[in-house]
Amino acid sequence: MIPLAVPNLAGREAEYLQECITSTFVSTVGPFVTRFEEMVAAASGAKYAVATSAGTTALHAALLSAGVGRDDLVIAPSFTFIASVAAIAHCGALPWLFDVSPENWSIDVTLLASKLEKETHRRVDGALLHTETGRRVSAILPVFTLGIPAQMDEINELAKAYYLPVVVDAAAALGTTYKDRPSGSLSAEFTMFSFNGNKTVTAGGGGIIVTDDPEKARLFRHVTTTARVGADYDHDMVGYNYRMTNLQAAVGCAQMENLGRFVELKRNIARNYREAFSDLAGIAPFPDPEYARSGYWFSGIVVNNRDPRQLTDIRVRLREAGIDARPFWKPAHLQAPYVGAPRTEMTVCDNLWQRIVTLPCSTGLTVADQDFVVDKVRRQFANN
Ligand SMILES: *Cc1c(COP(=O)(O)O)cnc(C)c1O
Repeated sequence: MIPLAVPNLAGREAEYLQECITSTFVSTVGPFVTRFEEMVAAASGAKYAVATSAGTTALHAALLSAGVGRDDLVIAPSFTFIASVAAIAHCGALPWLFDVSPENWSIDVTLLASKLEKETHRRVDGALLHTETGRRVSAILPVFTLGIPAQMDEINELAKAYYLPVVVDAAAALGTTYKDRPSGSLSAEFTMFSFNGNKTVTAGGGGIIVTDDPEKARLFRHVTTTARVGADYDHDMVGYNYRMTNLQAAVGCAQMENLGRFVELKRNIARNYREAFSDLAGIAPFPDPEYARSGYWFSGIVVNNRDPRQLTDIRVRLREAGIDARPFWKPAHLQAPYVGAPRTEMTVCDNLWQRIVTLPCSTGLTVADQDFVVDKVRRQFANN
């Protein structure tokens, strides 16, 4: 089976891991963590970076550090990996779920503007309230789906007008740009990148927050490092044990040395699929908005046919042919813990998610393997 996305560990990972063992620095303090933070800050165009145990824990602590409290609402797209909304729930808050735009599969900014105007009001103390539920709206969480940057100028403008902090889930968007600006330099309070095993660069697991604000960076570091004050056992707030270990960062540093090359390889894979299937009427490519240089964390196709059984058949037949073809995210408004969350109409989301088929896109995918995938996919649609 040609796998969907496996790590590419052909760099200095083993050498750096051996350094951790030799030095005995294996835990949450160590030189690789600092080096990793510096590398990610530089690559993403941000001043400060703080590395964490996972992308999910980074989002949770970022939302807390941005002032999200119990019973609040956090604006988020419904079409996302479950971690984005889980992090909101970890704060005791609820997502306010939005539909996405077909051009970038990220939050629909026109809908965002209209709902903020029509469905919120300001309390005398200045808090922004969601009129129907009476809950305070306390942040916007855009997601850079597949490593495609969301429409950040429009989002930032609305955030400013409504005094809302922006926490970006850019999990798979390291190495991408929005209007020629790197993805960590887009004026958000916090921007998160994930280093989970299937991301373009991995640390075996892990996350990071980047920001340009020294106070925000300090607060985030404090919250994620047990909120310890001084060298003894004093803690001034409820803290979390959320930092990255030196072992993870050792792998992360070796991976970061290949970030540019890995993103190029991902982009080539996406381009090859796009060109190879351009004449097939039954399928469409993943989005490629002009304002961004996307990372194409995943590649694949969108099948025009809406019959769920046929879509399952396509995936089953591709898997029988030796290709790890999979479905993609099921939107949050269809997930059991979030059925009660306030939401917009979901026309785009509901129509889209079941028609996505992801295809092999590891950075180590050979030309022969990609040709094989192309051939099998073409046969599917010739047969239909
Ligand atoms: C991978 C991913 C995450 C989660 O990151 P972890 O490091 O696995 O916790 C969150 N959001 C999105 C959009 C992702 O793709």
